[in-house]
Amino acid sequence: MRVEDVDVVVVGGGPGGSTVASLIAMQGHRVVVLEKETFPRYQIGESLLPSTVHGICRIIGATDELMKAGFTRKLGGTFRWGASPEPWTFFFSTSQKMTAEDALYAYQVERSKFDKILLDNARRIGAEVRENCSVTDVIADDDRVRGVSYVNAEGVENQIRARYVVDASGSRSRIYKHVSGERKYSEFFRSVALFGYFHGGKRLPAPNSGNILSAAFDSGWIWYIPLSDTLTSVGAVVRREMAGKIQGDPEKALLGLIDECPLISEYLRDAKRVTEGQYGELRVRKDYSYRNTKMWRPGMVLVGDAACFVDPVFSTGVHLATYSALLTARSINSVIAGTIDEQAAFREFELRYMREYGTFYQFLVSFYDMHVSESSYFWTAKKLTGDTSSELESFVNLVGGVSSREAALTQAGTLLKRFQRTEGGQTQLRVILGEETEGEPPLFDNGLVPSGDGMFWVMPGAAVSINA
Ligand code: FAD
Repeated sequence: MRVEDVDVVVVGGGPGGSTVASLIAMQGHRVVVLEKETFPRYQIGESLLPSTVHGICRIIGATDELMKAGFTRKLGGTFRWGASPEPWTFFFSTSQKMTAEDALYAYQVERSKFDKILLDNARRIGAEVRENCSVTDVIADDDRVRGVSYVNAEGVENQIRARYVVDASGSRSRIYKHVSGERKYSEFFRSVALFGYFHGGKRLPAPNSGNILSAAFDSGWIWYIPLSDTLTSVGAVVRREMAGKIQGDPEKALLGLIDECPLISEYLRDAKRVTEGQYGELRVRKDYSYRNTKMWRPGMVLVGDAACFVDPVFSTGVHLATYSALLTARSINSVIAGTIDEQAAFREFELRYMREYGTFYQFLVSFYDMHVSESSYFWTAKKLTGDTSSELESFVNLVGGVSSREAALTQAGTLLKRFQRTEGGQTQLRVILGEETEGEPPLFDNGLVPSGDGMFWVMPGAAVSINA
């Protein structure tokens, strides 16, 4: 058996794993990503938020590759939802925060392509990515987690010892159990999704043709995501008590649910279901919302769906995965640099992560009240987030993923310039750590704030000195 030592081992090469690997490798640390599949591989979760596209993806340097991929641009969302009989639309451009980075759009992505771009990007930055390698166990003693065992592409078991294990292995893996704690499922959001792909569906009139269209109906709601001019992802999310409707023949079930929803039915009138290739299969996924009671223990941390998942109506999954990856990378970078102790760094990670998750969760509880108009949703968004802008803008900030007052998500360009000035984060760390953090108040009592380049935690207003 081969045993090796690295700084960080990341389990899973989805958006959470590849982002955390990139952000830690950017500091020159040795990072290995173990991914059980060979990319490109299928994944659901195709509608992204500006916080991911213009915030995190810009910081890790993936913007150009994403642009080249030619993904559909989404200017906002269109909902047939709540008391209004007519669909209503919101635009990301309503948000002042997003215009700062010209982030007036997000992408609808084929995840097989998007996830590969991010994983290749992690490789480019210096993480070692090993595909077809499945993590089978976590190595720990009483004090902390020390590494993982995995089976490589040749079927041989190996071990990696690491200062940190990042579990970014998604919702269906069981690796998360090694942090102990409990996975708590929501009583409220317990739905099941049935989804497939269509050719030739109708588009919303310009400029909204790239928007996600979400339409509520008696049994739940349907997403309609334009992945290209001709390809559309269509999924019915039905409440647990209606789950019987998706048993039996999936084709019949999906077409039956679409028939129940006149708006989507009309959009698919001349469309044909794709029956071949990665989009040919009709898939069923339980999409119960959950969160783990613990997100880390010494030596191990959970990122993305391994940690929590919230109902997909606002397309928050990839945002939560990439944002938690940023929070994790800051914690690990700070502890390895010796500037912040482990307990304080991961406390900050956990509090910020749960705050973001909790805001979406609470907002969604109100959003599922179908008896009120959209203005009531906008009001709730403002009240929940404490946003000082208008009710509509507060709503757009929330559903664009930028309500957390996190500069990395809205001013990534500025952070990146500061990072580049440190020549890859190595040489002038001392300057950057203390720079321009004074104005940013901590979010929690005795909390930390991000460093000027977003890569570390620092004490509020502290001039940090380290031996870079
Ligand atoms: P994943 O993308 O699941 O990646 C985990 C990776 O870990 C996988 O590649 C897997 O192969 C690998 N892995 C697993 N086990 C092991 C192991 N033992 N060893 C090595 N590797 C392993 N999100 C959105 O943003 N927008 C949407 O529109 C949206 N729609 C959704 C609709 C539905 C019905 C559902 C269920 C989810 C939706 N999501 C959406 C959520 C989104 O799919 C996830 O939140 C997102 O993929 C999480 O990313 P991740 O990196 O945490 O995990």
